[in-house]
Amino acid sequence: MKAMVLEKPGQPLQLVERPDPLPGPGQVQVAVSACGVCRTDLHVVDGDLNEARLPIIPGHEIVGKITALGDGVDGFDIGERVGIPWLGYSCGCCRYCVSGDENLCDEPGFTGYQIDGGYAELTVADARYCFALPGPQSDAESAPWLCAGLIGYRSLMMAGEDCQRLGIYGFGAAAHIVAQIARYQQREVYAFTSPGDTAAQAFALEMGALWAGDSNQTPPCDLDAAIIFAPVGSLVPAALRAVRKGGIVVCGGIHMSEIPSFPYHILWGERMIRSVANLTRQDALDFLTLAPQIPVRTRVEEFPLHQANEALHALRSGNLTGAAVLRP
Ligand SMILES: [Zn+2]
Ligand SMILES: [Zn+2]
Repeated sequence: MKAMVLEKPGQPLQLVERPDPLPGPGQVQVAVSACGVCRTDLHVVDGDLNEARLPIIPGHEIVGKITALGDGVDGFDIGERVGIPWLGYSCGCCRYCVSGDENLCDEPGFTGYQIDGGYAELTVADARYCFALPGPQSDAESAPWLCAGLIGYRSLMMAGEDCQRLGIYGFGAAAHIVAQIARYQQREVYAFTSPGDTAAQAFALEMGALWAGDSNQTPPCDLDAAIIFAPVGSLVPAALRAVRKGGIVVCGGIHMSEIPSFPYHILWGERMIRSVANLTRQDALDFLTLAPQIPVRTRVEEFPLHQANEALHALRSGNLTGAAVLRP
């Protein structure tokens, strides 16, 4: 099979020919049809996240059809369409796994980080962490659901059920999915983009935002909560200033530049800051049930597999509307 491989952080991915991976016990082999390009992949490639098992095939928004079953796989058939997300393994016995917080597992395995991912023609995955993807949406459209959708959904849950006025900082793949869910739940969406990014602001309005503006602007009203998807630490105090007393600021990204110091009074009034780490399989079941009902439509830009570096570059430079997706 062909795969795009990260040999060393800071270097471009290499197109290599590898033997087809065979499914071990409990694993499925999947022919990758689409794999989303997530900001986390950029952080792995750049070495901001430095626990990658190298060399590694990145990619954790995988959609494809099962081509082989390992021993003992239950509940999946050959030919079935599945999605493979970021959480590829959890130990099942640490305090977090036992209490239902497997997203915080002490010994996790993440797809495209410690476990070879979807920037390839074939991949194998632990069947217990794969999800059936029935439904009419295309493979390319579904791929961003597997991380941007799931993490976005978890971030929205952390914003609180009574959050009526929701701010979203950074309007890319995750945000455009979250905005659709929030609108479906009859919440108001206020979108913040890089100053002057009128294309992203127009996109946000098209996706149902009530207001869109620059990240250094004050929204027209106090927000109940804000989710930060852009990996920019200075947005934390900006978002704190935008939320009301008791409001919540959710950091939805896995890596962020340093957060500058800020005066206590913008946190005062029982405002909260929290991060969202990874996902649980229950998040995936909940989101993958909800998304087709809305239905969530995903804006994607497709790239052939060998152009993975170009896709990463487009994401890095902000030249994407929606989500980049590789088509092996
Ligand atoms: Zn665990
Ligand atoms: Zn991701």
